[in-house]
Amino acid sequence: MSAKILDGKALASQLKSELASQIQKLEKKHHRKPHLVSVLFGEDAAALSYAISQQKTAESLGIRYELMKLDHRTTPLQFLELMKPYRDDPDFHGVFFNKPIPSQLKDDLDIAIGSDKDIEGMHPVHVADLFLGQSYITPCTPAAALALLKSSGVNLAGQKAVVVGRSEIVGKPMALLLLKENMTVTICHSKTRDLKEELSRADVIIAAIGKPLFIKGDWIKPGAIVIDVGINEKDGKIVGDVDFDSCKDKAAFISPVPGGVGPVTSVMLMKNLVELYQRPLKDR
Ligand code: NDP
Repeated sequence: MSAKILDGKALASQLKSELASQIQKLEKKHHRKPHLVSVLFGEDAAALSYAISQQKTAESLGIRYELMKLDHRTTPLQFLELMKPYRDDPDFHGVFFNKPIPSQLKDDLDIAIGSDKDIEGMHPVHVADLFLGQSYITPCTPAAALALLKSSGVNLAGQKAVVVGRSEIVGKPMALLLLKENMTVTICHSKTRDLKEELSRADVIIAAIGKPLFIKGDWIKPGAIVIDVGINEKDGKIVGDVDFDSCKDKAAFISPVPGGVGPVTSVMLMKNLVELYQRPLKDR
């Protein structure tokens, strides 16, 4: 058996064209585009290249994009002052903070923008919404992994999911999203006693570990669905947390890296922006 590939590029392209036509209709109705501010700290080359690609995605969808470059030595007080106009202006709909974020500012992001500009779904208000099962601004990476999983067309309710990783940005929100889909969810981490045993019973595996090619084909159940969130560099190539070559002959569906969760994640960010744009306008 060879697994069907869950093609993130194709899904991203379909979601982009749906989002572009939604934005076109919204602009016609409300006479303004969704407006994204992307904050870049210092001179990090990888962050700048990510911001440029984000700008391309945003503009291709009809989103107004503004790049705000800040010195990496910006103090918390300066940061709050600089962000104030964006936080209070209803013509800005979302703010994205490019990583790495200077350590002195990490605790101030939520205060700097407030939940109504949080497109990353990490503001405490959005985290609480997710916990209560009412989320509408979902963290982008888990949302992308779920979208890719759903693109398999398999009915998820009642199936056993194992999420490997418990970080705030991926593992934990992922588990909550799967629970909302009525899956039976197990979260594994570095202290899990017998990871192979847990994985051998999983109908769905979400790998968010940060270790190249970590999950092997002989650990997984025949017919499992494997979603690989990992992005790692190995021998000059980008690889996932799943050993794709050994898993592809055992799984029913598998997402590749690159070309899996990654491309869908950036669209999810833009979807959140459009949600925040629409929110105050919905009753008009
Ligand atoms: P973190 O380093 O924050 O978390 C890694 C998790 O994996 C931890 O919970 C850790 O457990 C667990 N872990 C580590 N080693 C083992 C092990 N041997 N067995 C079981 N669990 C283990 O990483 P992130 O959640 O931020 O990212 C995970 C991966 O996803 C990375 O490759 C990252 O690059 C990628 N990523 C991809 C994105 C995308 O858009 N596709 C976006 C964000 C991240 P413990 O808590 O016990 O330490």
